[in-house]
Amino acid sequence: MHYTGQTFRPPREAYTPLLEVTVGCSYNQCTYCAMYKDVTYRKAPEEQVLADLRELSVYADRIDRIFLENGDPFILSTEELLEIADRIYEHLPNVEIITCYASIVDLKNKTVEDLKRLRKAGYNQLYIGIETAHDPTLKKIKKGCTQADEYRELAKLEEAGIDWICMVMAGIAGQEDSFAHADETAKLLNTHQPLSVSPLTTTVHPGTELARMVADGEFQTLTEGEILEEEIRLLEKLDLKPRALFFGIHSYNTAPVIGRFSEKEEMLAKLRGVLEGMSEAERNARFVRTGY
Ligand code: SF4
Repeated sequence: MHYTGQTFRPPREAYTPLLEVTVGCSYNQCTYCAMYKDVTYRKAPEEQVLADLRELSVYADRIDRIFLENGDPFILSTEELLEIADRIYEHLPNVEIITCYASIVDLKNKTVEDLKRLRKAGYNQLYIGIETAHDPTLKKIKKGCTQADEYRELAKLEEAGIDWICMVMAGIAGQEDSFAHADETAKLLNTHQPLSVSPLTTTVHPGTELARMVADGEFQTLTEGEILEEEIRLLEKLDLKPRALFFGIHSYNTAPVIGRFSEKEEMLAKLRGVLEGMSEAERNARFVRTGY
């Protein structure tokens, strides 16, 4: 298999074959992100994709799902994505779901009709890092979209019947806007419901614009106590379907919690319990998180 630079995948795709169809991220401007700083975005060569599919075809009987790499393969045109799906089915006929990271920016270049064609071709359960629906924060982190874009593009996805999985960044709005970020984000997700929500604590990676802002005193990370308060606020405000998953067990997170929304009160009790059990020093600590 061919992989260029560092390769990322969601924790839940640990057992899913990863097929590189793009290198890097087409956008690569979010202030907090260092994932693809060392690589230039490009489409992977067709011969490489075909060679990898031939390699995977040995296990064709066991492969019913595939994850496309890298940062945002959904930026490819509808025709290119349909072509990739055709090649996948030629080699892996049992595949039922083609998934990948996608962004609101990627969705802008597709109509509802395009998205319906992609859904029919197996594209589903896209991982979208919304991070926040708080407009001033979206601007500050240079996410490349507004809250209005998020509402419009997620409505298109919903109309096309494509399910999505949401990543939210705890602490990204700073102390002042922490609860506004939680409230606005919950409102968006209650309107356009994802299958799952993953809150990830904001990490300041060296070399990013966010790291520069922290060094210059323009941004301060939340304390451990404030991060938990924000996560509790988000969960309180979220009103998702009972089967939707709250996937708060990323290694960055202060208190691991996972469960269906039918168990929302139990999850809240757990998070409140951790917060109440923290000493003053623990609440006020600002831990440095490294790696991914
Ligand atoms: S967060 Fe996602 S969209 Fe933003 S630069 Fe990183 S990979 Fe690209």
